[in-house]
Amino acid sequence: MVKPSITINKNELFYRLVRQSKESFMRITEKQVSEAYRVARKVYEGEIKKADGVNELVDVHGLNRATANDFIYDFKCLLLGKVFHRAMSAGAMHYFLSKIHTEYGVDSLIQAVISLKAHIKYYEGHFKVNMRKLRGVAEEFERLTRHNKTFLEIEQEFHRSVKESLEDNQSNRLKRLSKANKLPEKVEVKTTVFIRNPDVVAESLIRANGTCESCLTEAPFLRIKDGSPYLEVHHKVQLSKGGEDSTDNTIALCPNCHRKEHYGM
Ligand SMILES: [Zn+2]
Ligand SMILES: [Zn+2]
Repeated sequence: MVKPSITINKNELFYRLVRQSKESFMRITEKQVSEAYRVARKVYEGEIKKADGVNELVDVHGLNRATANDFIYDFKCLLLGKVFHRAMSAGAMHYFLSKIHTEYGVDSLIQAVISLKAHIKYYEGHFKVNMRKLRGVAEEFERLTRHNKTFLEIEQEFHRSVKESLEDNQSNRLKRLSKANKLPEKVEVKTTVFIRNPDVVAESLIRANGTCESCLTEAPFLRIKDGSPYLEVHHKVQLSKGGEDSTDNTIALCPNCHRKEHYGM
């Protein structure tokens, strides 16, 4: 089995841990965090050079050089949805994500949450630590982004999470389960619906005359309400892909053929 490569050596790790404990001792102030965000943003937008940004944070705002570098690097990764390996405190992360949300919008926030979750996974995997506070930040903002996701995106996200859970080991999974909320969280999602023309549906059904226009067999059952043959009117080019709501673009299908059209099975 190939071991995942770790690109930092022991000395660097030691140095980093010392730096982190030192920093949690001499807390970075809120002002320093907001200056770090402002400078990181300017560097990212190409308004100033990275070296100048680092110098400003060190000389004017009193951050240490490595930390200044980390803020600038982490910010870029957050916006691009990429994993970063340099630690940031939960408080600073909270500030960065709030600002990304208001200044870059929810799509960028979604990227930032992906980036943060990858960071946590990397860190917990390599250093056997539990980043409880940072996890809390990720969850808080993830909840926020859900309101802007569609039903389909939430389903896809859920399937990804199931896959991740299956890949994890059982003791981690059981530990999480023991603390998990047993009442599922509810969210409202954004849905776009097309107001379809009822005449198009009616004309399509009359044209089909009780026979599926794909497999050419009779409708499998009659509607209880009115005894009419049960067929579903499908758009050949989906409305969401710019298809027209016209009888030229519709086909009346039995439920089996309709399923096949949408899911290929
Ligand atoms: Zn059919
Ligand atoms: Zn359809």
